[in-house]
Amino acid sequence: MQINESVIRNVVTQVLAEVSENHRAPVANATYSGRHGVFGDVNEAVAAAREAFLQLSQRGKADRKRIIDHVRRISIEQSEELGTMEMEETKIGRLEHKIEKLKTLGARSPGIEFLRSEVYSGDLGLAVIEHAPFGVIGAITPVTHSLPTITGNAVSMIAAGNTLVVNPHPSGKRVAAEGVRRFNQAIAADLGIDNLICVIAEPTLESAASIFSHRDIALICVTGGPGVARAALNSGKRAIVAGPGNPPVVVDETADLDRAARSIITGASYDNNLLCIAEKEVFVVDAVFQPMLDAMARAGAVRLNERQIENLTRNAISQVGDDQHDAPAKEFLGQDATILAEGAGTSVPVGTELLYGETDETNPFVPVEQMMPFVPFVRTRSVEEAIDKARQYEHGFRHTSIIHSNNVRNMTRMGQLLDTTLFVKNGPCMASLGLGGEGYISFSIAGPTGEGVTTPLTFTRERRCSIIEDLCVLGQPQDGGH
Ligand code: NAD
Repeated sequence: MQINESVIRNVVTQVLAEVSENHRAPVANATYSGRHGVFGDVNEAVAAAREAFLQLSQRGKADRKRIIDHVRRISIEQSEELGTMEMEETKIGRLEHKIEKLKTLGARSPGIEFLRSEVYSGDLGLAVIEHAPFGVIGAITPVTHSLPTITGNAVSMIAAGNTLVVNPHPSGKRVAAEGVRRFNQAIAADLGIDNLICVIAEPTLESAASIFSHRDIALICVTGGPGVARAALNSGKRAIVAGPGNPPVVVDETADLDRAARSIITGASYDNNLLCIAEKEVFVVDAVFQPMLDAMARAGAVRLNERQIENLTRNAISQVGDDQHDAPAKEFLGQDATILAEGAGTSVPVGTELLYGETDETNPFVPVEQMMPFVPFVRTRSVEEAIDKARQYEHGFRHTSIIHSNNVRNMTRMGQLLDTTLFVKNGPCMASLGLGGEGYISFSIAGPTGEGVTTPLTFTRERRCSIIEDLCVLGQPQDGGH
C-alpha cells in the first residue's frame, strides 16, 4: 500500500494539534504546598499530580522509562531499609519477604514494553490503535503490602503516561510516604518533574472518599478487602477493583504429595499468609488424606491436634461488625507460626513456617480469609466433592485457586467450575505471579472488574488514528463504472 506523504503529514499535524489541545497547558498558579509527593490534603495532592501529568504528557516514552527505572532501582537497592521500615510499621508478615517483594516488583513488574500499538493496514489505508493515558489515577492500597503495591501501581500507571494519588492504609502510611518521597526526589533530580506519585500522609476513609469524588481523578484503582471494593464500585467513577480472595487448594489421588506439601508450605507461609493469592484451605480426597498430612510433616509444617485447633480458633478468629461475622483477630493476623502455636496452647520450634491440621468445613478457618500461617485440611469423599467445596468456599470471588493433580480432567473441571482469575496447577500460589512460574508480577489483581493481573495496558484508553489511502473510494466505486 502506498500512502501519499502529504496526506500523512496532514494527519500527523492534525493529531498533534488535537493532542496538545486535550492536554491543557500547565496551570502556572496551581496551589499546593507538598513536595516530593507527600501531601496533607487531597485537593493539593490532586492539583500537584495533575500538573505532573501535564508535564509528563510533554515527554516521550524514553523519559517514562527513565522515570520507572528510578522507581525500580530504589525498590531494589533500598529494599532492605524500606522492607524493614514496612515490617516495623505494620508489624505483620515476615521481613525476608517484605524485602523480596520490593526487589521482585522492582525487577519484574511490567513496564512500557507492554504498550504496543495495533495496526490494520489494507487497501483503504491504515488504522493505528494506540494506548493513551487517563490522567490522574486515584489508588487505594492495603496494609498487607503497602509500599510494594504503590511500587507496582506506580510503574504500571506511569509507564502508561498517568500520574497517581495514593490513599494508603493508615497502618502502612509512613513507609508509603517515605517510599514515595524517595521515588519523587530521584525522578525530580534527574528529569525535573516532581509529584508524579502523590500520597496522602494522614489517610482516612474521608480522604479516600474525597479521592473517589474528585473531578480531576479520571480513574480509580483499589486493592483491598470487600469494604473498599464495594466503595469503589459505588463511587460512580470507572474503577479497577483488586478485591479479596480465599484461595482453596484441591489435592486428588493422583497428586505428587511431597511436591504438593512443599508447594502448600511455600505459598501459605509466604509473608505469613498475607498474600491475597495464598493457599487458605485445602480439600483432600479421602484416599490420600492421611498420606497428605504425613507429607506436610515431612516437608516441615507442624500439625495441630483437635484441641489445639479449637484453642487457636477461639483466640485467632473474632466476631466483628453488626452481624458479628468471623474475621481474623488483629493479634494473630500476619504473625509467625510460633505466636499462633501459643494461641493454640502449644509451642513449636523457632523457624516453623506453617501450622496445619484436620478440620471439617464448619471451622471458621475454612470460610474466613485468615491471613495467618495456619491452614485447615478438610477430608472429602471424592475429587468432585473437593472441587465443589473449593468453589463454595472461594465465595465466588473468582480470585485464585490451586490444584495438585496429574489428572487433566480434574484440572479442567476445577478450572471451569471455579473460573478464577489465577489457577495454579502443581505449584505454590506465587508461581502465578512469575515467582517460580512464567509471567509478570503485580500486587493488584483485578478479579471483580475483570482486568486480571494489572499491567500498563490496564491503565490506558484505546485511541484510534486512521489514515485514508484514497478519498475517491469513500462511497464510490473505485474503477469508474459510470
Ligand atoms: P482493607 O480492605 O482493610 O483495606 C484496604 C484499603 O482500603 C486500605 O487503604 C483501607 O484504608 C481502605 N478502605 C477500607 N474500607 C474503605 C472504604 N469503605 N472506603 C475507602 N477506602 C477503604 O484490606 P487490608 O487488610 O489492607 O488488605 C487485605 C485485603 O486486601 C485482603 O482481603 C486481600 O485479599 C486484599 N488484597 C487483594 C489484592 C488483589 O490484588 N486482589 C492484593 C492485596 C490484597
